[in-house]
Order: sequence, then C-alpha cells, then structure tokens
Amino acid sequence: AKAQGGNRYELADPDSDARVISRHSLTNRLPAALEGHEFFIEYQPLVRMCDGGVEGAEALVRWEHPRHGVLGPDRFIPLAEHTGLIVPLGRWVLEEAVRQACEWQVRGIGGARPLRVNVNLSPRQLSHPDLVSETVAVLENAGLPPESLCLEVTESAMIRADDAELKPLRQLAELGVGIALDDFGTGYSNLASLRRLPASTLKLDRSFTRGLQQHPADPVDLKIVEGIVSLAHVLDLSVTVEGVETAAQAAHLRELGCDSAQGWYYARPGPPERVTVPLPLAAAQ
Ligand code: C2E
Ligand code: CA
Ligand code: CA
Ligand code: CA
Repeated sequence: AKAQGGNRYELADPDSDARVISRHSLTNRLPAALEGHEFFIEYQPLVRMCDGGVEGAEALVRWEHPRHGVLGPDRFIPLAEHTGLIVPLGRWVLEEAVRQACEWQVRGIGGARPLRVNVNLSPRQLSHPDLVSETVAVLENAGLPPESLCLEVTESAMIRADDAELKPLRQLAELGVGIALDDFGTGYSNLASLRRLPASTLKLDRSFTRGLQQHPADPVDLKIVEGIVSLAHVLDLSVTVEGVETAAQAAHLRELGCDSAQGWYYARPGPPERVTVPLPLAAAQ
C-alpha cells in the first residue's frame, strides 16, 4: 500500500498472489474505481541531456485498489482499453496532468523554460471522435499552452493508424501539442512510414539501451542507437531515451546526441513534488 510522507511503496509484485486476482473482478471494478477516485498519477522527470535540467515529466497512472494495494498500469490499462473505460479514465489522466503542469508553471518550476507534461494515449482514445475538441478544452480550461503538453502514442499504434486516424494528431500537432512516438523500435515501422507521422519526438525503447549499461558499451548497440539518433534528427524529431538506469548509459547517450532521457538513474516515478527534487549531480556533467 501507499506509504505516507513521500516514502516509496512498491507496485504489487507481478509474481506474487496479486497475479491471480482475476481479470474479471478487476474489470468489473474499474468504473467504481474511477468514480471513487482510486486512481492516482505518478510523475517521472524528463531530463535534458545538454545541461541536466528537468524539461518535464511523464504522467503514469496507478490504481490504489482497496484490497490489493497499488496496481501498475500494465495490470489494468489493457482491461480498460478492452471495455472502453480507457476513454473516461484517459480523460481524467489528461485533466489531472494538465492541471499539475499548470501548477508547476505557476510556481515557476523549471525557471525560464516552463515544464512540460507527457500523457500516454491509448489506441482507443486515438480513434475517439472528440479527441481534439476535448484536448483543446482541457488545455483552455486550465490555461496551459499547447506547447506544454506532449501526447505519447506507441509506435505500433501510430503505424497501424490510417490517414483518417492520424488526422486528429496532426491537428493537435498544428496547435503546438507535442506528439511522441512511444516505445520506438518495437513496432517495426519502416523508415518511409516515419515521414508521414505527425510526431515531434521519438522515444527510444528501453530494450535498445540495455547494451549501454556498462563501460565499455556493446559496440553494436552503440552503432544502432547512433543510427537511430541521426535518422531521427534528419526527420526533425527529438530523441528521448527511456529506461536509463546507470551513469554509464547516461554518458553514452549524451555522447550519441540524444536530446533527453528518463529513467531510474535520474528519478523513479513519484508524487508531483518529485520533479522539484535535485537530480544526481552527475546528470548535469
Ligand atoms: P511506458 O509509456 O513505456 O512508460 C515507461 C515505463 O517504464 C513506466 O512503467 C515506468 O515506470 C518504467 N520505467 C521508467 N524508468 C525506468 C527504468 O529506468 N528502468 C525500468 N526497468 N523501467 C523504467 P509503468 O509506470 O509501469 O507504466 C507501464 C505502461 O503503462 C507505460 O509504459 C504506458 O504504456 C502505460 N501507461 C501508464 N500510464 C498510462 C495512462 O495514463 N494511459 C495509458 N493509456 N497508458 C498508460
Ligand atoms: Ca509512455
Ligand atoms: Ca515508453
Ligand atoms: Ca516501454
């Protein structure tokens, strides 16, 4: 369960009893959980590689289940996606994250460069007819500039989308909302297809950077990441790397020209105040 006073709790261990909680019972409880405010959001800082500053944070939803403790999104997002509850749940996450970003900005966190918030969008939300109007309304109600929001859509969802399904993302991008191609490298997009996507950022999947955890790094992994970064830059995409766990990885990725990074090395996901806590000193070197 959630500990008080900023201490971390652990997400329910997927190998423990929690795994046997039936999908059926979780699915049935989802609407009541949304009504009953059992969901909460953790934020994980996004760190600029050039100066080690925090440029924003990704919103990651959790469910504090009254009987089973805190459940991670992998346990319930697929269920919510299946039943369609992801639409109101995702709308709540968006509203809450946008409100939080406004609060950071009002408090001047991030200094001259206002913090941004990244919100994950599932395929069902992507094809929802009100995506654009609702997103614009949420931004306007909160008074957050569109540039301070980035929507993360997985590479596999984006490449599956046809032009009609990409249109809302393109409209949002034209308004200034950032679009990130999430889990890049796991969706098998061909290079040509990248050009038609309205993305501004490529989020390189964690699986690519495992070989960079040590000094010296795996030379083939170095070359692959180098290639992806230069391709992304040719296409005018910034590159964020996820799952950075060691100082060695961070150093390699900075050298390879990655623009920003996210991972346990800098900070685990945590309460909103997490983005104001100093990062490891080495991050800024
Ligand atoms: P994701 O978008 O790829 O998010 C990154 C995941 O990697 C998060 O898992 C994060 O806690 C974890 N992570 C961050 N740094 C590290 C690291 O250094 N090492 C390792 N091993 N892991 C790291 P989490 O929070 O369990 O979220 C899992 C997935 O659930 C997310 O993957 C995202 O696809 C989905 N998700 C989370 N929140 C939402 C949401 O509000 N809406 C939707 N549709 N999906 C969400
Ligand atoms: Ca994400
Ligand atoms: Ca990701
Ligand atoms: Ca991932």
